[in-house]
Parts: sequence; C-alpha cells; structure tokens
Amino acid sequence: MTQYRRPPIVETILAEGRPVVLFGAGDLGVLSHYALTDMGVEIACFADGRHSKQGQVLSGLEIWSPEQLGDLPQNTHVFLCGNYLATMAARLREIGFTRIHDCVELLDGFDFTGADVGFVPSQIERKIAFHKREVHKAREQAEDTLVFKYLDVVVTEACSMKCIDCSNLMQYYTKPKHSDLDLLASAVDRIMESVDGLYEFRVLGGEPFVNPRVHRVINQLTAYAGVEKVVIYTNGTIVPRGENLECLKNEKVVVEITNYGSHSKKHDELMATLAENGIPHVSKIPVWTDSGRIKFVERSASELDDMFHNCSVNDILTLLNGKLYRCPFSANGTNLGAIPETSADVVDLTGDLKGPELREQLRGLYNRSGHLTACGFCNGRDYRTPRVEAAIQTRRPLPLTVV
Ligand code: SF4
Repeated sequence: MTQYRRPPIVETILAEGRPVVLFGAGDLGVLSHYALTDMGVEIACFADGRHSKQGQVLSGLEIWSPEQLGDLPQNTHVFLCGNYLATMAARLREIGFTRIHDCVELLDGFDFTGADVGFVPSQIERKIAFHKREVHKAREQAEDTLVFKYLDVVVTEACSMKCIDCSNLMQYYTKPKHSDLDLLASAVDRIMESVDGLYEFRVLGGEPFVNPRVHRVINQLTAYAGVEKVVIYTNGTIVPRGENLECLKNEKVVVEITNYGSHSKKHDELMATLAENGIPHVSKIPVWTDSGRIKFVERSASELDDMFHNCSVNDILTLLNGKLYRCPFSANGTNLGAIPETSADVVDLTGDLKGPELREQLRGLYNRSGHLTACGFCNGRDYRTPRVEAAIQTRRPLPLTVV
C-alpha cells in the first residue's frame, strides 16, 4: 500500500485560505468533509440537487441548492462528492465554476481510523473504491482528451544553494546556465496548443529568482486561460524585486517557500514582502529522501516498473532546455549527460515539432506505464526510500560520470 500524501489540490486550497464547497450531501460528502477538515480546510457548505436534502444540516453545515451556489465566487473549489460525475460537473459549469475536483486523490488511502463518520472501515473502503471506478470510467469516456495535472518549467540550472542530496541534481552542475527564454516560450506555447488543459504550472530551477528575467516566464504562464495555478518554488534566499515581484501579483500565483532554516537567509523578509503585496504563499519544512544520487544499478524490468509505479514524482512532467521529460530526475540526469537519452523518454521541442504529431508524443509520454531509462540510475523516490538530512551543503559541484 502506498503512503498517503496530502494531495497538491489541498496544498493549493490551504495556501489560498478560502473555503470550499462539497457538492453531494451523501456518504462521500461526509467522508470528504472529514478528510478535508482533518487537513485544516474550511468547508463553506454542502450542496445537493435533491430537494429532499436542501435546507437540512449535515456534519454541522447547511445543505444548499445548486442555485444558491451562484452567490459564491466562480473560482471557489468544488469537490464532486457523488458518482453522477458528468451530470454534476455539467451543472456546476453551467453556474460558472471551473475549479471542480473529484475525490479520488483526497480519499484514496486517507486514514479514517477512529473517525466517527457512521461507517465501518470496510464500508469506507468500498465507497471510495466505487467512486474511484466511476471517476476512471468518466475519464475513459473522455479518453481522447489530454489534460495535464502539472508541468514543471525550469528557468535556470543555477541555484543559490548547493545541497549534496538535491533530488533535482543541482549539485552536479559545474557551469549552470539560465534557460533560453525564447526556446522556453515557444515550447510552452506549442505544448499548450496541443493539450486540452493543464491544472498547474510549477516554476523552478535551481532557484528561479536567480534568473533576473523569470518574470517573463511567469507572465507568459499566468496568461494562459485554461491554467488554474502557477506555483513558484523558492528556497527563501532571494527576495524578488521590480518586475520579478510585480509578476507575482496575479490571482493564479502561489509562492511556495522551502524553509531550510539558517540556509534560507531571506525567509522572513520574503514572507513579509509577499504578505505586504497580498501574494498567496506557503512556507514548508522539507522532508528529504536519498534520491539525489545518479548511479546505475542492475535491476529487473519488474523491479524498475515497481519503482516507477510507486514513485511520488512519476507524473511531474518537466520542461528543461526545450525538452519535456516524465520526471525531474530524468530531466536533469539526461540534461547533465549522465543518463542516456532515449526517444521514448523525451519529447524534443528544440526543433519545430507541433500540432497532431506533438499531441501524440505528449500523450505517449504522459500515459506511459512502464519505467523510464532514468529509473535504472535512480535510488527511487517513494515511501521506502531512506530519509536524509535536508540541505547539507557542498562547496564544489559533485563529480559526475558522463555517459
Ligand atoms: S527516475 Fe523513476 S524512480 Fe526516479 S524519480 Fe524518476 S520516475 Fe521516480
């Protein structure tokens, strides 16, 4: 069983600090209410299309009619707590909501031990499994669509820290350079023209604010109509000024600061600046696994597939120097020349690839279910990977074997 991880959507909601709506005042609604409340999310209300439910109280909250939801901001997050997904989603879209989520990531694997929700554990398990099946069915029906969850956009190989165990492999760059922003802009444009949607862009490096022109990228990413969030990952060593601060004043932007204690020298100043400017942000103390070493280990195909399936970052598509990879380790290991590049593991946008051909290659990369070449060089990134102390610094880049 894989370890439960707080879903990224919950992180986003917590960072925004706004209440959410649970659409469906039944069993899944009760379970979702419990899980979200347990993680600190405030629930505004339940809603339900059934007249018999409307006006009643569930888990201490009033059940609204769908029409009443029209009074809420259209960017309110709404969870579909029921199994008539297409009908429910269509109704919410009619009202104008766009941030609509199923409950699979939220409930799958959540620990309900001791929860007073009115069901025994086996019932809870079945209700969640049934919802999961319904969601998969709905996804299959829409299988021709191509919607990405996240896309990591690397704006620089340079970092203001040099951590020996960085899982994005920054410790191996001897001459780090900033990304070619024209190539980056063109690649992102072509990707966005070829997919049906993208929930979240994640802007990172290295340290993204090391790049003085990161604002150009952030302004481009926030301008795409179909994108919900643009999250900037920073290590708290640089306080953005000028255009790099201005570009953050956008309702799609969330700044996520990793707090490395004394290494994050500007952490408090950065928090204060973001707060003063009304920019949503969150600060986190990291937990690191031993995932920053590049070393080929002979493993069987089934062992590698198992690593890939359990990996916590196996769906973080990463755009680096005009090439799109399936995970950050694959991206940086290949970019460094330490992992051989194989065409099935990368979509090369350095040329003029676009249109239907690009769409098919993107679909192939995103939907692949077997391991990557990079998995053979990786120590894994899952609940079994040993923990290491975060952010131990090295003065010089670490030596690397180039293939
Ligand atoms: S190389 Fe494989 S195991 Fe390593 S981080 Fe990427 S997907 Fe996960």
